[in-house]
Amino acid sequence: MVRGFNAELKRVLVFATSGIFFGFINGHMSWTLIAACALYICGLLWQIRRLDLWLAQPNKQPPDASGIWGTIFDNIYRLQKKQRKEKRQLKTVINRVQETTSALRDGVILVDSHGNIDWWNRAASGLLGFQSSDQGHALINYLRHPEFIDYFESGDYKTPLDLPSPRFQSKHLQYQITAFGRRERLVVVRDVTQIHQLENLRRDFVANVSHELRTPLTVIRGYLETLADSDSMPEKWQKPFSQMLYQSERMGQLVEDLISLSQLETNSDPQPQLAVELVTLLQSIRLDALELSGSKQQQIIIHSASEVTLTGCEKSLRSAFSNLMFNAVKYTPNNSRIDVTVQNNKSGIYVSVQDNGDGFDRKHIPRLTERFYRVDDHRNSSAGGTGLGLAIAKHALLRHDAELKIDSQLGQGSCFSCTFPLTREFKSI
Ligand code: ADP
Repeated sequence: MVRGFNAELKRVLVFATSGIFFGFINGHMSWTLIAACALYICGLLWQIRRLDLWLAQPNKQPPDASGIWGTIFDNIYRLQKKQRKEKRQLKTVINRVQETTSALRDGVILVDSHGNIDWWNRAASGLLGFQSSDQGHALINYLRHPEFIDYFESGDYKTPLDLPSPRFQSKHLQYQITAFGRRERLVVVRDVTQIHQLENLRRDFVANVSHELRTPLTVIRGYLETLADSDSMPEKWQKPFSQMLYQSERMGQLVEDLISLSQLETNSDPQPQLAVELVTLLQSIRLDALELSGSKQQQIIIHSASEVTLTGCEKSLRSAFSNLMFNAVKYTPNNSRIDVTVQNNKSGIYVSVQDNGDGFDRKHIPRLTERFYRVDDHRNSSAGGTGLGLAIAKHALLRHDAELKIDSQLGQGSCFSCTFPLTREFKSI
C-alpha cells in the first residue's frame, strides 16, 4: 500500500479531477465537487474512527491504511512499542531497587512531600512495626519522639539522630534522613543497640576504674608528700621522690579529668542551673592562668562591653573556659598575647579565647576534641596536660547548648570559640 503525505496529496488530486470531470459531463459542476469533497471527508472520518477503535485496544496491531493515515498508524505504533519497552525496563529497575532495599538490614522509608509514608522495606516493618494500612499516613504519627519530630521538621540532616526504639524498649535506633526530589525524604533506620551497649560499657568501665583508682592514688600521694617533706629523707632519694610525687599528681589529675568527662558524657550528675556571671568567672580564671603563665610573661586581656549572666552550671563552665585559657598559656611562647572576648549579640552570647602562638595545622581540628589526641604528642604531653582538656570543654559547652568551634593557622595562633543561645541568658524576674 502506498503511504505518506505525497500519496495523500495524489488522492486529493484524484478526487478533485474526478469531480471536475463528472461535473463537466453532467453539467452540475458545483454539486459534483461538493459530492467529491463529502466523499473525501467521509473517508477521513472512517479513518479517524478506525484510529479511535485501535487506540482503545493498545495491544492490537495497527489497522492497514494507505496515504497519510498509513504513516500516522505506523508512527503511533512505533511510539507505543518504544514506550512499552521503556516501561518494561523501568519496571525491571524499580523491581531490582525494591528487591535490594528489601534485602537490606537497615530500614528504608520513603516519605512524600507532605511527610506521609510512601513506601518502606521489610526491615522497616520489623524495626517500626509498619503495616500495609499505614501507607499514606504521616510518619510523625508513628515516630512521635519530640526529638525525632524536631529533626524531621528541621531540614538539617547533616548528622544522624540516635533514639530509643518506639517499639522495643531495649533497642536503640539511629535515623538518617536524606532529602531528595521535591521535598521528598528517604529515612534510613539502623539498629545501633549493640554499638550503644558497647559505648555504655566503655563509659561505665572508664567511670568505675577512675573511681576505684581515686582512693589508692590519694593514699600513695599522701605518703609521698609526707616522705618528701621529711627532713630524714636521704639526699639521694630526694629526686626520685619528688618525681614520684609529680607523676602521682599527674595521675591524680588524669583520674579527676576522666571522672568529670564521664559525668559530663553520661548526664549522670544533674547540674545545678543557676545564674553565672560570665565575665566575672573569666576574670577569676584569668588570675589562675596568669599564675600558670608564671615567668612566661604572657598578656591575657578580657574584652567585654558589659557583664553577661548565663543560666548554667558554674563548675562545668569554669572547667570549660579554664581548659581553653590554660591551653592558650601552655601552648604559646613567652610574651605572647591571649585575647578573651565576650559579645552579647543578636545570634547569641559569643565567647572566644584567641592566642597569637604557633597554632597548628587545620587537619588536626576534626580530631582535637577526641580523648588523648595531641597535635605533637611528645612536646604536648611534656606541657603537663592530660589530653582530656578539649574533650571536657566540648562536653561542658554542649551541656549549655553551645558548640566548641576551633580555628588555627600555623605560625598565626589559634581561636577556640562558642556561642550560647540567647535562651541561656539569665533573666531576673
Ligand atoms: P592537653 O592536655 O594535651 O592540653 P587538650 O585536650 O586540652 O589536651 O588539648 C589537645 C591538644 O590540642 C593539645 O595537646 C595541643 O596539641 C592542642 N592545643 C590545644 N590548645 C592549643 C592552643 N591554644 N594552641 C596550640 N595547640 C593547642
